[in-house]
Amino acid sequence: MAIKNYMEDVVKEILRDLEKTKRIHCQCERCRNDIIALALSSLKGKYPTTPEGEILAKVEQSDRQVRTDALLAVMQAIDIVREKPRH
Ligand SMILES: [Zn+2]
Repeated sequence: MAIKNYMEDVVKEILRDLEKTKRIHCQCERCRNDIIALALSSLKGKYPTTPEGEILAKVEQSDRQVRTDALLAVMQAIDIVREKPRH
Protein backbone atom coordinates (compact mmCIF):
# COMPACT_ATOMS: atom_id res chain seq x y z
CA MET A 1 0.00 0.00 0.00
CA ALA A 2 1.34 3.41 -0.89
CA ILE A 3 1.91 5.47 2.21
CA LYS A 4 0.63 8.59 0.52
CA ASN A 5 -2.79 7.07 -0.03
CA TYR A 6 -2.77 5.63 3.45
CA MET A 7 -1.91 9.01 4.95
CA GLU A 8 -4.47 10.72 2.79
CA ASP A 9 -7.16 8.38 4.09
CA VAL A 10 -6.11 8.96 7.69
CA VAL A 11 -6.00 12.74 7.23
CA LYS A 12 -9.42 12.84 5.57
CA GLU A 13 -10.93 10.69 8.27
CA ILE A 14 -9.51 12.92 11.01
CA LEU A 15 -10.73 16.04 9.25
CA ARG A 16 -14.22 14.56 9.01
CA ASP A 17 -14.20 13.84 12.74
CA LEU A 18 -12.96 17.33 13.55
CA GLU A 19 -15.69 18.87 11.45
CA LYS A 20 -18.24 17.18 13.69
CA THR A 21 -16.75 18.36 16.97
CA LYS A 22 -14.85 21.53 16.23
CA ARG A 23 -15.97 24.61 14.40
CA ILE A 24 -13.88 24.99 11.32
CA HIS A 25 -13.97 28.46 9.78
CA CYS A 26 -15.05 27.15 6.43
CA GLN A 27 -15.86 23.73 5.07
CA CYS A 28 -15.83 24.47 1.38
CA GLU A 29 -14.00 22.16 -0.98
CA ARG A 30 -11.12 24.59 -1.45
CA CYS A 31 -10.36 25.03 2.24
CA ARG A 32 -10.73 21.29 2.88
CA ASN A 33 -8.29 20.52 0.08
CA ASP A 34 -5.85 23.13 1.39
CA ILE A 35 -6.02 21.64 4.88
CA ILE A 36 -5.48 18.12 3.53
CA ALA A 37 -2.56 19.20 1.33
CA LEU A 38 -0.86 21.11 4.14
CA ALA A 39 -1.29 18.26 6.61
CA LEU A 40 0.06 15.75 4.11
CA SER A 41 3.10 17.82 3.26
CA SER A 42 4.03 18.23 6.92
CA LEU A 43 3.57 14.50 7.48
CA LYS A 44 5.73 13.70 4.47
CA GLY A 45 8.81 14.87 6.38
CA LYS A 46 8.06 12.36 9.11
CA TYR A 47 7.20 9.41 6.91
CA PRO A 48 9.58 9.29 3.98
CA THR A 49 8.43 7.80 0.71
CA THR A 50 10.13 6.86 -2.51
CA PRO A 51 9.49 9.09 -5.54
CA GLU A 52 6.77 6.63 -6.51
CA GLY A 53 5.07 7.28 -3.20
CA GLU A 54 5.74 3.84 -1.82
CA ILE A 55 6.77 3.19 1.74
CA LEU A 56 10.54 3.34 1.92
CA ALA A 57 10.81 1.08 4.92
CA LYS A 58 7.94 -0.50 6.73
CA VAL A 59 6.42 2.18 8.91
CA GLU A 60 7.75 1.47 12.33
CA GLN A 61 5.23 3.60 14.13
CA SER A 62 2.05 2.01 15.25
CA ASP A 63 -1.22 3.03 13.69
CA ARG A 64 -1.98 4.93 16.84
CA GLN A 65 1.22 6.96 16.57
CA VAL A 66 0.47 7.71 12.92
CA ARG A 67 -2.98 8.99 13.91
CA THR A 68 -1.58 11.17 16.67
CA ASP A 69 0.88 12.75 14.24
CA ALA A 70 -1.84 13.16 11.64
CA LEU A 71 -4.20 14.83 14.12
CA LEU A 72 -1.52 17.37 15.06
CA ALA A 73 -0.75 18.03 11.41
CA VAL A 74 -4.45 18.56 10.60
CA MET A 75 -4.96 20.94 13.52
CA GLN A 76 -1.94 22.99 12.46
CA ALA A 77 -3.17 23.02 8.88
CA ILE A 78 -6.61 24.26 10.02
CA ASP A 79 -4.95 27.15 11.86
CA ILE A 80 -2.85 28.07 8.84
CA VAL A 81 -5.81 28.01 6.46
CA ARG A 82 -7.95 29.99 8.91
CA GLU A 83 -5.30 32.71 9.05
CA LYS A 84 -4.96 32.85 5.30
CA PRO A 85 -7.96 31.50 3.45
CA ARG A 86 -7.49 31.61 -0.28
CA HIS A 87 -10.84 33.23 -0.95
ZN1 LIG B 1 -13.47 28.02 2.20
